[in-house]
Amino acid sequence: MSDKKCAVITGVTGQDGSYLAELLLQKGYHVVGLSRRSTHHQPQNIAHLTGKIDIEYSDLIDPHSIERVIAKYRPEEVYNLAAQSVPADSWSQPVVTGEITALGPVRIMEAIRLLSPETRFYQATTREIYGGVDAEVIDESTELRANNPYGAAKLYAHLMVDTYRQSYDQYACSGILFNHESPRRSLHFVTRKVTMAVACIKCGVNDPPMNEAGQPLVHDGKVQMGDLDMIRDWGFAKEYVIAMWAMLQQDKPRDYVIATNTAYSIRDLCETAFSHAGLDWKDHVVTDDRFLRPTEIAASRGDYSRARSELNWSPVATFDDLIHMMVDADISRVQDRRPNPVAL
Ligand code: NAP
Repeated sequence: MSDKKCAVITGVTGQDGSYLAELLLQKGYHVVGLSRRSTHHQPQNIAHLTGKIDIEYSDLIDPHSIERVIAKYRPEEVYNLAAQSVPADSWSQPVVTGEITALGPVRIMEAIRLLSPETRFYQATTREIYGGVDAEVIDESTELRANNPYGAAKLYAHLMVDTYRQSYDQYACSGILFNHESPRRSLHFVTRKVTMAVACIKCGVNDPPMNEAGQPLVHDGKVQMGDLDMIRDWGFAKEYVIAMWAMLQQDKPRDYVIATNTAYSIRDLCETAFSHAGLDWKDHVVTDDRFLRPTEIAASRGDYSRARSELNWSPVATFDDLIHMMVDADISRVQDRRPNPVAL
């Protein structure tokens, strides 16, 4: 038996899972990543970790696949990063969003409670649990007002984390993370949509990837967007996983807001990304009502004071740093036809 600490990461193929796996390997953990079985399985984000982490196949819909892993490893820590993670898709798939995003974490907490009660549990909660709340700045005490199926599913899981903590004295915490991005962000999300569009336009790509409507991301040098006035608090994913780890090292489990306390619009995002490539966003961005959400979350910033004082965590990368990094990575990808620049 190894004396290394063992951590299980669900959603290891995703943006955060891959960064967290790297962080925990650096810290000397035995890392077990959970991945769904898929016919077209090409986990680009973790290709560079092959042989360094163990992979187990598991689906959050299937409780037995979770119990098998918890019983096999009895890990010190479990990080639940798996989810149907795309708010925009949650309107067209509300039931599967509930199955995976709301009930998945409960299946894990039950497995821990019954099979390995000393295991510490991290749940990937989101700013979307506050939904349309009327507050310029949000912290852990802000009223919970989820207003889309994804936010509602995450809110149920968030409340269940607190319920398991109170009912069973389980070490479980929620990281209430505001939007965080990186070159590993999937194309389902607006930041990558914009930075990939910039790269395709800049490099004259004539076979761009598809957008969320199943059409070419760039057509006639233009990208179609939804509401340009939408506001978000955006940070860098590689920094946010440090806060996840720090939460599970505290004496007592607690929930923490992780954010940058800044606010930028989609228009700011377009301007920053296109100008970094020497382009004028107004020549290339058009709006289309098909990309509007039925409801929007409020334009709130995240107050991460609790994380700063108790976890010694603060964000470092600025909005410009982040978007420039993503544009540069997408231009490299497009030029080299590489799926993912793993060093970022
Ligand atoms: P992501 O890149 O979309 O990764 C989601 C992961 O979940 C993928 O590895 C995916 O596996 C896995 N997954 C989906 N359905 C599953 C199922 N039924 N069973 C097992 N695994 C499943 O998301 P992320 O950006 O890394 O975010 C990580 C977590 O933080 C998510 O829970 C997300 O909702 C939450 N969060 C993210 C943000 C953000 O801004 N990034 C903010 C707040 C909270 P496949 O590769 O098989 O699809």
